[in-house]
Amino acid sequence: MILFSRETNKNILMKENYTTIIGMEVHVELKTESKMFCSCKNDPDALTPNTNICEVCTGQPGALPVPNKKAIEWAVLIGKALQCNIRELSKFDRKHYFYPDLGKAYQISQYDEPIAENGTFTLTFPTEENIRDIAHIGIERAHLEEDTAKLLHDTEGSTLVDFNRSSIPLVEIVTKPDFKTALEAKTFCQELQLLLRALEVSDADMEKGHMRCEANVSVQKEGTFEIVDGKVLPLGGAILNHKVEVKNINSFRAVERAILYEVERQSEMLEKGETWAQQTRGWDENTQTTVLQRIKETAADYRYFPEPDIPPFHPIKLAKKQSLPELPIAKRERFHEEYGFSYADAKFLTSSTYWANFAEAVMSELTDWLSNFPEIHGDTDEIREERQQKMARLAGGYLTSKLAGFLTERKKDIQTLKLSPENFAELIALVYTERINSTNAQKILIEMLDSGTDMDPTHIMEEKGYGQISDESKMIDVIDEVIKNYPKQVGDFRAGKDPIIQFLVGMVMKATEGSADPKVAEKLLREKLSE
Ligand SMILES: [Zn+2]
Repeated sequence: MILFSRETNKNILMKENYTTIIGMEVHVELKTESKMFCSCKNDPDALTPNTNICEVCTGQPGALPVPNKKAIEWAVLIGKALQCNIRELSKFDRKHYFYPDLGKAYQISQYDEPIAENGTFTLTFPTEENIRDIAHIGIERAHLEEDTAKLLHDTEGSTLVDFNRSSIPLVEIVTKPDFKTALEAKTFCQELQLLLRALEVSDADMEKGHMRCEANVSVQKEGTFEIVDGKVLPLGGAILNHKVEVKNINSFRAVERAILYEVERQSEMLEKGETWAQQTRGWDENTQTTVLQRIKETAADYRYFPEPDIPPFHPIKLAKKQSLPELPIAKRERFHEEYGFSYADAKFLTSSTYWANFAEAVMSELTDWLSNFPEIHGDTDEIREERQQKMARLAGGYLTSKLAGFLTERKKDIQTLKLSPENFAELIALVYTERINSTNAQKILIEMLDSGTDMDPTHIMEEKGYGQISDESKMIDVIDEVIKNYPKQVGDFRAGKDPIIQFLVGMVMKATEGSADPKVAEKLLREKLSE
């Protein structure tokens, strides 16, 4: 029996009596100036093949690798952010295998002394449905290695090699098999991307291959194993099913889909009494299936040994000198707690440093402004809290939906925005005090965005006459006009059809091009119609 469908995207598709073990491996290209072991330019997206190459990164015999200090520092920083133990002593090792994208037939990687190990990463699910609200994911290790070259297959069946990517610094992050659902695995990759961007060590763009996620998935019979300190141990002499490594995953959505597909495939095999060898499969985006690539070698096949050309080094010394910035999860929590943003708004606003800084500057202005609000004196803490909440909801909506939406429509970026947080905050304050209505506030915002300069919203409001007419004497002529023009509706209202009042208010709003204060209009209409 299938307990939940693949479409729900929430939980692991699971047949009765089976359970799934999932671990992730993520490779991250660091955006250092130069490559890992030579001074060639680090530009994985370079358009002309084989331009950033030398004897080291093409793997010429006798060429000597010189490690990139910045790359080691950043790997340490990533390890710290993942709450890992940073090693006292670490070294590089040679990992041997033959493949055309690996010129020297070994990759310089790290085997038994990785820079960082035994960390944790905590995922929370305040708004999405997951089988648990909090998932603590163990981090097995984070180590540094070099990227391989890129193979290009042409239409005539030949394969060409581009060494631009060869020896770009790569951090491999290996988790413990602690994920319980595909959603958790996807969320981990999303959070990791935000973390890497906040640390400014990688662009972590999955589509461009800056961040490559692989999932290790195996379906097991329930009660046949236990996970102790990240190790899967069989219980009662059980023979466990082999893990399947899924590669070629190029989007967050694909992380989830690939895992769900693999769980379904393995479950069906078990139902038929079949087993499988340890293997690597590739996610095929077109067919939405995984395809067998190769039967997996074991670690011993790589014949690891210490890299003789690079001396061991002391990552802990670097770690002691480094401090971490506020990390995305902590920042999101603070935006929710301190400013009163909803979880969804806080998540969006902390997704990039630019948005976070802009939102923080806006909120700082508004909080300041609120605290100087004359009516506030004598207010209780509850009232102040309520006011802050209302302001956060308003500002959150204007930032995440209006501003972000208009920027997307105009293909503009918050990074190049001329609009200052001060003027944006002033616009929010105009809406908050009901000096303008939402329609006119959006017109002003569009004008501010399209002008290409930093414009004062109050100035635009006054110039365009967008301010709400709450002055009764200015509205009275319009009210008279509406009453004269809609005798049938006026008659209906007087005959007791109270909801018709909203129609008449609407006509006042239309006649004033949205600048009338609807509450004042309704009050005046009611007064006039009861005369
Ligand atoms: Zn080079």
